[in-house]
Amino acid sequence: MSKVAIIGRPNVGKSTIFNRLVGRKLALVDDQPGVTRDRREGEGRIADLAFTVIDTAGLEEGDPETLAGRMRAQTETALSDCDVIVFVIDARAGVTGTDRHFAAAIRRAGKPIIVLANKAESGAGRDGAYEAFSLGLGDPIPFSAEHGQGLGDLYDALVDALPASARLDPDEEDEGAPLVLGEEEDGSELDATKPLRIAVLGRPNAGKSTLLNRILGEDRLLTGPEPGITRDSIAIETEWRGRKLKLFDTAGLRRRSRVVEKVEKLAVADALRAVRFAEVVVLLLDATIPFEKQDLSLADLVEQEGRALVIGLNKWDLIDNKSDRARELREEADRLLPQLRGTRVVPVSGLTGAHVDKLLEEVVATHAIWNTRISTGRLNRWLGPVVDSTPPPAVSGRRIKIRYMTQPKARPPFFVLFGNSVESIPESYKRYLVNGLRETFGLIGVPIRLSMRSGG
Ligand code: GDP
Repeated sequence: MSKVAIIGRPNVGKSTIFNRLVGRKLALVDDQPGVTRDRREGEGRIADLAFTVIDTAGLEEGDPETLAGRMRAQTETALSDCDVIVFVIDARAGVTGTDRHFAAAIRRAGKPIIVLANKAESGAGRDGAYEAFSLGLGDPIPFSAEHGQGLGDLYDALVDALPASARLDPDEEDEGAPLVLGEEEDGSELDATKPLRIAVLGRPNAGKSTLLNRILGEDRLLTGPEPGITRDSIAIETEWRGRKLKLFDTAGLRRRSRVVEKVEKLAVADALRAVRFAEVVVLLLDATIPFEKQDLSLADLVEQEGRALVIGLNKWDLIDNKSDRARELREEADRLLPQLRGTRVVPVSGLTGAHVDKLLEEVVATHAIWNTRISTGRLNRWLGPVVDSTPPPAVSGRRIKIRYMTQPKARPPFFVLFGNSVESIPESYKRYLVNGLRETFGLIGVPIRLSMRSGG
């Protein structure tokens, strides 16, 4: 199995990242004698990627006098052993002299390097992340191990850096190590042999047909049946990286609008049909006029129908100042769609083809999240401390007692909270729990359902 080493100076969050990737249960302590005694190895997973993670954080716990030496030795071993280096900096602290020292050492190792700017959950942290460009080790990924942010980008980077064999077969995918994006002890409903159903939605002229054609790799929509001819299927199948995709054919809309120059009007029935067909909806925005009212109602529809969502910022080729703009629009998405906070927002150009693969990667990753089942054990290890630190308020003198939580269903994740008088839990507290679930288990781009059951 390919090895990924997590390298960085003390306190940048290496252990938290290790635990994120490995899942606490599987974090084995390597008990070989000698220099490796400080080293932890575990089986890491993100969605369908499997790899061995080497953590070098353990050595920080020993005698501080000898830290430098041990660290050097440890890092050297990890560097020579691994296939991919994940180099971690603290985005809030920016790039320090020690970071540069490490950077020089890992550059010499001559292996693929992924730079994670950890603790980037705050705006300030994100700025710090940009400093890491100066290391010359490639684009840093803003990351938050604590909040589970950036896993999608790390996934992308690992897909590029690891050999193809790191990707599990669909058959294997439900077994073995837990998914980082939610464990699957109960087994998931994900069946990767079935085509993944996708609908591309958006306002007229957002570029849906152009994008669909690009994904299909040819002008199949345009050369399809003439307007007016009844199609026997509403979907077109294609394959991407060996994965079957079934795309909802919104081209009918286009042909009609071409013929009669229709006013820009959202056909609600068409949208609903597409959303119900889809597992993942790509909401395609025109990046030059993003987040119009119609865009937001489409996102609402996706939420209400319980589908997974990825936002595409199309016509990105027309945008100046791309990285600032991307950040702004991501923040805007979180602000305007608090019920789907963290949803992937991918700049793309259907016209040039730029980032279309990235968009599809996010679709596949979000689909996996949508299918995720989190084990009852894991849920309750999270729930206990969360409820202890902030208990639900008493409602009209009645004490609310939360006992436990389970996730009986996925697609979208559905949780049930058991206890006394839990039906009286106020909305604000439910939101607190839902936000906590989203952050802790990386439930990005999917609606979360939470239901309350008293008694028992
Ligand atoms: P639809 O109504 O959403 O299906 O939109 P179309 O695919 O018909 O595209 C509407 C217009 O936007 C056409 O003139 C396209 O050429 C243009 N367009 C689509 N995608 C892009 C893009 O990525 N960049 C640019 N610059 N133009 C685009």
